Amino acid sequence: MCDTGFIPHSRPALGEAEAGRAAETVMSGLVAQGKTTERFERAFAERMGGGHAAAVSTGTAALHLALLALGITKGDEVAIPSYVCTALLNAVNYTGATPVIADIDPETLNISPNDLKKRLTGKTRAVIVPHMFGLPADMDALSNLGIPVIGDCAQAVGALYGNKQVAQFGEAAVFSFYATKVMTTGEGGMVFSKSKSLVDRVKNLRAYDNPDTYEIRYNYKMTDIQAAIGLAQLDRLDEFIRRRDAIADRYDNALKPLGLKTPKRVPGRIWFRYILNVDDAGPRIESLRKAGIGAARPVDIPIHRLFGNADCPMTDRAWRASVSIPIYPALSDADVDRICLGKSSIYRY
Ligand SMILES: *Cc1c(COP(=O)(O)O)cnc(C)c1O
Repeated sequence: MCDTGFIPHSRPALGEAEAGRAAETVMSGLVAQGKTTERFERAFAERMGGGHAAAVSTGTAALHLALLALGITKGDEVAIPSYVCTALLNAVNYTGATPVIADIDPETLNISPNDLKKRLTGKTRAVIVPHMFGLPADMDALSNLGIPVIGDCAQAVGALYGNKQVAQFGEAAVFSFYATKVMTTGEGGMVFSKSKSLVDRVKNLRAYDNPDTYEIRYNYKMTDIQAAIGLAQLDRLDEFIRRRDAIADRYDNALKPLGLKTPKRVPGRIWFRYILNVDDAGPRIESLRKAGIGAARPVDIPIHRLFGNADCPMTDRAWRASVSIPIYPALSDADVDRICLGKSSIYRY
C-alpha cells in the first residue's frame, strides 16, 4: 500500500459482480424500468423484513413521493431535524408544505423527540426521521407523538431497531443508493412500506404516463441497469455490514486508548459513519487531510443555519465537534492502520 496515497472519505465497493450484471442488462437491450427493477424491489422488500417497495431515481425522489403518498400538501407542516443534508428540506419544499426544523439529541445525533414535541402545531402532518450515520432513532418515542413518521434509512440499510429491521417502523421508509451510501446503484432510491396502497401510490406517481385520469406525476424511475447493480449489491449487503463492523472495532481499539471520544455503540446500528467527537472539528479535519486521510464534517451545514435562526444549540454543538473518518468496505486493513497511526500528532489533544 502506497504510504502517500490519499485515502478518500468515501468510496463504493463495486466489482466484477456489479459489472457483470450491468453488462448482461445492457446486452439484453432492456435498459429502462422493467422486470429487473421489479426483481430488485421484491428482493429488497424481503431483505427489509417483508413489505412492499418502489424503486425510484434518488433518495430525494423517494422522500418527495413518500410525502405525496401521505397526502402532504401546501399549508401542511413537515418536521425534519437540522443536523442532516438539505435533501430533506428540498423534498418538503417540493410539496409546498412548510418545513419545521427540530434540534437533535446530542447523544445519538438523531432528531430529539422532546424538542420535536415542542415544535408541533395543529398543522404538523408528518416528520421525516433520518437514522443518522446508521444509528436508529428513538422510534418508540417518535411514534407516540401522534403524527405519521417517514423513516429515512438512507444511512441505515439493514440496521435493526430492537430485533426488527428499522425500515419496519413508521408509515414508510426511504432509502438512497447514491455512490457513497451503504449500497449503491450510482444514483437511486427506494420507498418501502408495510402498506401496499402507499407503495402503489408511489408507483403511480413515479411515471408520468399512467393511463388513468390526469394529475401531476413525475419521472422518477430507476433503470434496469441500476436495478441489476442493486441486486448485486444487495447480495453483498451482509458482507458490507460485517466489514464495517470490523473496521469500527479496529478504530475503537486503536483510538479509545488515546482518550478520543469514539461514537456510540448501539446493538443493531450500521457503521455508515465513524464520527469522533473533538473540541473543534475544523483544524482537526485539516490536519487529517494534510496527512492524506479524507476526514470530513459528516453534515456540511445544519439546516437551521440556512434559515439564519440559531435555534438548535445541540445541532450547533454537534457540527462544531464532529469529525467523520473513512469507513467503508473498500477500505483495506492497511488503510485503517494508516489512519490509526496518525495518532501521535493528529489525534492527541
Ligand atoms: C443521501 C441522503 C439523502 C438523499 O439521497 P439522494 O439519493 O442523494 O437524493 C436523504 N437523506 C439522507 C439521510 C441521506 O443520507
